[in-house]
Amino acid sequence: HHKDGSIADVDTVIYLRQSQDRTGEELGISRQREDTRKLAKLRGWAVVAEHVDNDVSASGKRRRPGFEAALQAIQSGQARCLVAWDMTRLTRNARDRLRLLEAGKQHNITVAFVRGTDLDLGTPAARLTADILGSVAQHEIEQKSDRQRRAALQAAEQGRRIGGRRPFGYEADGMTIRESEARAIRKAYDDVLAGVPLGRIAAGWNALGLTTPQTKRDGSPSPWTAQSVRPVLLNPRYAGLRSHVTEAIREAMDPRKARLKGIVGAAAWEGLVSEETWRAAVELITDPSRANPARSARGLLTGVALCGVCEATVHRGAAPARRGREGHTTYRCRAAYGHVGRASEPVDLYVMDLVIDRLSRPDAALLLADESKPDTAALRREARALRVRLDGLATLLAEEVLTELGVRRESRKLRDRLARVEAEMANAGRLEILGPLVRADDVQAAVLSLDTDRLRTVVNVLMVVKVMPAGRGARIFRPETIEISWKL
Ligand SMILES: [Zn+2]
Repeated sequence: HHKDGSIADVDTVIYLRQSQDRTGEELGISRQREDTRKLAKLRGWAVVAEHVDNDVSASGKRRRPGFEAALQAIQSGQARCLVAWDMTRLTRNARDRLRLLEAGKQHNITVAFVRGTDLDLGTPAARLTADILGSVAQHEIEQKSDRQRRAALQAAEQGRRIGGRRPFGYEADGMTIRESEARAIRKAYDDVLAGVPLGRIAAGWNALGLTTPQTKRDGSPSPWTAQSVRPVLLNPRYAGLRSHVTEAIREAMDPRKARLKGIVGAAAWEGLVSEETWRAAVELITDPSRANPARSARGLLTGVALCGVCEATVHRGAAPARRGREGHTTYRCRAAYGHVGRASEPVDLYVMDLVIDRLSRPDAALLLADESKPDTAALRREARALRVRLDGLATLLAEEVLTELGVRRESRKLRDRLARVEAEMANAGRLEILGPLVRADDVQAAVLSLDTDRLRTVVNVLMVVKVMPAGRGARIFRPETIEISWKL
């Protein structure tokens, strides 16, 4: 010992930790390193090791390899002193604290803090002090995260944003629209409604020189892929909706669905498309039948037309090999092979004729008129009202106006109604695909120029197609065996 009580040339381990909570009070690693080294030097201690934990959550639930290594250094006798910036940075929960105190007691360790006093853990008084310091720090963290949770919920209810990465289509404030990107996003929603695959949308964005707001590890811009376009278009923010994903929602489902489930109401920022358009696009993007990689090879009516026997959807497959019929394909019931089996080509041609005919009629413009289109403003108002009432249920429970059972029942009722309203909005959004076709100078040419994906969407918007069994030995296509009911 020196005269001033410090221990000279003692092997010391330094522990640094950076966390990512949003308090803005976090210290950078370099600052912690500078301060802890200075302290060790001042005490005359020799730093033999430094252990760092990066981006570890404040909740203390995740593993901290740096902390484990520092503890190991003490337990193995490599170090007799430990320097950290303060107690909150060193131990995050009671378990860590106990392990530190135990190791400190056994090996006579001194812990020194940039903020705080040195603690000689060989003495019971210092261990008690360390334990109290740790408890107080932990209490503060818990209060802080509780405050953060409440602040996040309040922000969501007010439609405000609480920071984070720059959203594509907006400036860093998340409010100001960046028109160059916004244009591409609006077009992408139109494309999705028209059946364009996400991969092609990604390629289009890349061709425009747009990159994701996230850069790659080496700092270079990331090009778009179908995988990165998908979460963008599913994001409720583009319909001007604010989503707040609580822990309960996050644990209950995958993040994609969680964001949709978490919608609490209108956002403080302006959306880029109507809620109807967004909902219609979401339905198409999340439709599992679209996940089929062989989509381009699917028939026009695959997944759209229904089996005349059981109303399952039909799919297109190769026709049973028969002399003179090579290369033919048939529509078959997905549920039971024997229900229907119809040569696909005449059915496709017949349905396309009907589509062209319907869209060429003088009254086709009425398809886009108000009578066939649900009152979307009213739907939006109703959805908003339902969400407000859902929000209010918690209050009614807290104030004991409703029992828990009553809240559950009421909540289910409101959610059912909200789901119906949302489905109607999605339908309204899909109608938008007909506009360009009806307004085209040459409707037939416009329809024939569509690829199969787009055409399938048009059929789906206009009609329900039921494929009836043709009967034994039927060779000639008879239109009456295809049952059409118009949706509009
Ligand atoms: Zn069937």
